[in-house]
Amino acid sequence: MKLTIAVDGPAGAGKSTIAKLIAERFNIMYINTGAMYRAVALFAMRRNIGSEDADGLIGMINSLEMHFDKNKLIVNGEDVSELIIQPEVSKKVSEYAAVKEVRQHLLKLQQDMSKKYSVIMDGRDIGTAVLEDAFIKFYLIASAEERALRRYRELMEKGIDVEFESILEDINKRDYTDSHRELNPLRKAADAIEIDSSKLSIEEVAEVMSEHIENKMKKYGMTVN
Ligand code: C5P
Repeated sequence: MKLTIAVDGPAGAGKSTIAKLIAERFNIMYINTGAMYRAVALFAMRRNIGSEDADGLIGMINSLEMHFDKNKLIVNGEDVSELIIQPEVSKKVSEYAAVKEVRQHLLKLQQDMSKKYSVIMDGRDIGTAVLEDAFIKFYLIASAEERALRRYRELMEKGIDVEFESILEDINKRDYTDSHRELNPLRKAADAIEIDSSKLSIEEVAEVMSEHIENKMKKYGMTVN
C-alpha cells in the first residue's frame, strides 16, 4: 500500500527539514509543494507575467515540466532549487499561489505523484485538499518570531544576505495571504495532529512525528511500498 503523509503549517515552521528527515527514515519520497509554487512564481517573474494574468499563467504553466530529483526541483531541465528560495521569489509567491488556475494545475501534479509513490508532502493545503485521505496528517506551528529566526539562519548559512526584520515582515504577510485566500487557504485539517515546534528541536519534532506514524502503521498492519 502507498503511504501518504501530509504536513501543513505556516511559513518557516520547519516543515521541509522535518519532512526530509522522515522521508529518509521511512524510505519514501519527499515532495516540497511550496517549491512548486515558488517555481511558478520564478518563471512568471522571469517572463513578466503578473498574477492577474490568468491566461498568461496557464500558457506558461503548461510549458513547464517539473520533477524532483533527490530533493532538487528540476524545471525544464534546470535545477531551480537555489533560485526559488531567494527573497524576491518569497515576496511574490503567495500572490501567484492564490490564482485558481495555478492551484488547480499544481494540485493535479501533486496528486499524480502521490498515486505513483509513497510520499511525505508538505505545504499549506495538503491535509485539506491534495491528500484529503492521507494515512496521517500533521499541522506544525511555531511563533512568528521563532519561524523568522529559523528562516534567517537558514538563508544566512546559504550565503543569502537578509535582514531579520524583513524576513519577519515577509512571513507575517505570507501567513495572512495564505490563510485568507479564497481557494484552499492554510488551515488545520480536522483530523491533523498539531505539534508546536517552538520549544522543540527539528530532530525532536521528527521523532515525535515518527512515533505517531509507526504507531498508526502498526495499528493498521501497514507496510510501505
Ligand atoms: O513552503 P513555502 O514557504 O516554500 O511555500 C511558499 C508559498 O507557496 C507559500 O507561502 C504559499 O503561498 C504557497 N503554497 C501554497 N500551497 C502549498 C504550498 C505552498 O499555497 N501547498
